[in-house]
Amino acid sequence: MTRTPLIAGNWKMNLDHQQAIALIQKIAWTLSDADFDYEAVEVVVTPPFTDLRSAQTLIDAEGFKIVLGAQDLSDNDSGAFTGDISGEFLSRLNCQYVLVGHSERRTIHGEDDEKVRLKIQAAIRHNLIPILCVGETLEQRNSGQMDLSVKQTLAALEGVNLENLVVAYEPVWAIGTGEVASAEQAEEVISMIRKGLAESKGAEFADKTRILYGGSVKANNVASFMKMPNIDGVLVGGASLDSEEFANIARYREHIGV
Ligand code: PEP
Repeated sequence: MTRTPLIAGNWKMNLDHQQAIALIQKIAWTLSDADFDYEAVEVVVTPPFTDLRSAQTLIDAEGFKIVLGAQDLSDNDSGAFTGDISGEFLSRLNCQYVLVGHSERRTIHGEDDEKVRLKIQAAIRHNLIPILCVGETLEQRNSGQMDLSVKQTLAALEGVNLENLVVAYEPVWAIGTGEVASAEQAEEVISMIRKGLAESKGAEFADKTRILYGGSVKANNVASFMKMPNIDGVLVGGASLDSEEFANIARYREHIGV
């Protein structure tokens, strides 16, 4: 089974709709100048909700191959949920992916495994591919809870039937800190996640599911992760806001001579 590598940018709460247009244009132009092969590597950006319509219009009008995703969704589809965003609206804006259970949602917004599971189900209802984020804190790592990401993954998928999933292993201590997990550390956890998926959802599902690493990824360290057999891509926060840097991350194959 060949899994298409996925390079995803999580913009978090940065850039308004005009800045979003400028950044997407710059990424697309930089990649097209470099004859980037989007069939070989999928490139996704997840701007804030208020940018999505402008981003969609631009991508459509220019025929860019950058794929749109969102950073979160409601577990409900419509109704009295002030401030929430339905997966239906995201689908209508041609979002193909949605981040679910990012550590900032878990810690700042108190989302637990149950909430994450409901959001995964909402994503499925609206044909969005969930990018399920999991990962341990430094405290949890130091107390030997190396299988926490496996537990979070399985809890989010309990009783859920799905065809398409991306998992992002993001050790919380490596997010936005400049502290990077080694490629070997990331590979170890990611291979445990794949094993857990095989046991609970079957070998075929585990084999086709892309599992990303996230946490202080930059152009100068992406290749070490992408060389690992179980790491299928990266989820990039801070570095995804810089067009040159993000384009260089997406071009990782040139760094490893593929
Ligand atoms: C993230 O927030 O998903 C992330 C990986 O952030 P950063 O790359 O800035 O560590």
